[in-house]
Amino acid sequence: MPFRFDNSYARLPNEFFAPIKPTPVSAPEMIRLNHDLAQDLGIDVARLKSPEGLAILSGNKVADGSEPIAMAYSGHQFGGFSPQLGDGRAILLGEVVRKDGVRHDIQLKGSGQTPFSRRGDGRSALGPVLREYIISEAMAALGVPTTRALAAVASGDHVHREGIVPGGVFTRVAQSHIRIGTFQWFAARRDHENLKVLADYVIQRHYPDAKDANNPYLALLEGVIERQAKLIAHWMQLGFIHGVMNTDNMTISGETIDYGPCAFMDTYHPAKTFSSIDHQGRYAFANQGPIAHWNLTRFAETLLPLLDDDSEQAVAAAEIALDAFADIHRSELQRRFTAKIGLEAGDADDWSLVEGLLAAMTEGEADFTLVFHRLSESLESDNDDDVVGLFKQPNAIIAWLDSWRERLHVVDRERVVAVMRRTNPVFIPRNHRVEEAITAAYKGDFSPFHRLNEVLQRPFTTQIDSTEYETSPSPDEVVRTTFCGT
Ligand code: AMP
Ligand code: MG
Repeated sequence: MPFRFDNSYARLPNEFFAPIKPTPVSAPEMIRLNHDLAQDLGIDVARLKSPEGLAILSGNKVADGSEPIAMAYSGHQFGGFSPQLGDGRAILLGEVVRKDGVRHDIQLKGSGQTPFSRRGDGRSALGPVLREYIISEAMAALGVPTTRALAAVASGDHVHREGIVPGGVFTRVAQSHIRIGTFQWFAARRDHENLKVLADYVIQRHYPDAKDANNPYLALLEGVIERQAKLIAHWMQLGFIHGVMNTDNMTISGETIDYGPCAFMDTYHPAKTFSSIDHQGRYAFANQGPIAHWNLTRFAETLLPLLDDDSEQAVAAAEIALDAFADIHRSELQRRFTAKIGLEAGDADDWSLVEGLLAAMTEGEADFTLVFHRLSESLESDNDDDVVGLFKQPNAIIAWLDSWRERLHVVDRERVVAVMRRTNPVFIPRNHRVEEAITAAYKGDFSPFHRLNEVLQRPFTTQIDSTEYETSPSPDEVVRTTFCGT
């Protein structure tokens, strides 16, 4: 057996899920298998590469030991509550336990209809499968907590989206797929008994230290708030915009999940959005902190019955925990952004310096990733031309460079460069490159997809034969929106 499955979630009460087998596909073909991840999880790579492995990863065979289920959850989508979501096109095959004891879900996405499919076909187009593969693995290589890609399979079937496109099955790995929306499922049904079962399960699996706290459920809330506050700051360090921060797309484990209409910014603007359906800018770059706080407030509401028997006391405790979000998020954001300009223990003045740079970048319509990368190069070459050349209006950046260099007088230059090099990536999955890989794949050529994946494995390292992946898109290459048509 490639997998040694356990099924702890399937042992929870019936209200948590619906048992459902994947629906077979016509002619599965492996596109990419993540050997390193498989090995890391103690999965038998040779068996996974065999026809049996392909059959499991396409949904054509249920592995021995797997008890496939679709998980139940609700969620606020763009602010409106949907009590009935759940895995409509995903099926949890089971869990594997890594050598260090950390349990991981193995989930198929695009594996057919479930009782939660509503009017959906339960399938995925190949494009979004490749997109999630590229971006989630890039995020992992960048050091961001994230779900992972174990495999991308072409199904041999077609799906109807905007036109008819080839289908695919994606194998996702996560420390768990439990979301804020999972808690909302039980809260919306006033099922306090199962809410407690869920909270206890989550504490056991993700927050074992909370068990020993005075109030374990409050410690759970605090733990989730801390991980999410830090996660969003990490995204922002890299110019990442999630695009659909609905409460069903925010994990309790603190991993990034659901790479739909997400993208890394090219040109910096704090109000930048990508999703074609985000007309209000709800999930814009700089709004991600406030939205995470809003989502965590919804999470806290679900926990109220567990926090205290006295509802006023429960609300008071939740409010204190939620108030901590802003401080944690801000200090993490400041730490990460001052490191981007080479300053490790950034103070308030250093943060003003960062704000000055971001303002110059907004005004000058400069490329977010290139600016920081070239700033570190300018320190080594003592030449600012390549930085200044990124700005449409150079005055603000020229003035800013003077104040930055003045600040750096008192800091060890080599240290500054080292900090910047490990904070600022050379390579991000630029949207036009992702689109290019998908377009080629739709014509049967997977080489740009593989090449992009390989370059993104070492995002902080200059790769002289891959400089075309560093640069921002030309005007005709710019991808303005990404679609939820997954
Ligand atoms: P997402 O946009 O991936 O976060 O999905 C939101 C909800 O829609 C989840 O409940 C999904 O399971 C469901 N969904 C999305 N696409 C499909 C599909 N093709 N078939 C069935 N359900 C879907
Ligand atoms: Mg989702």
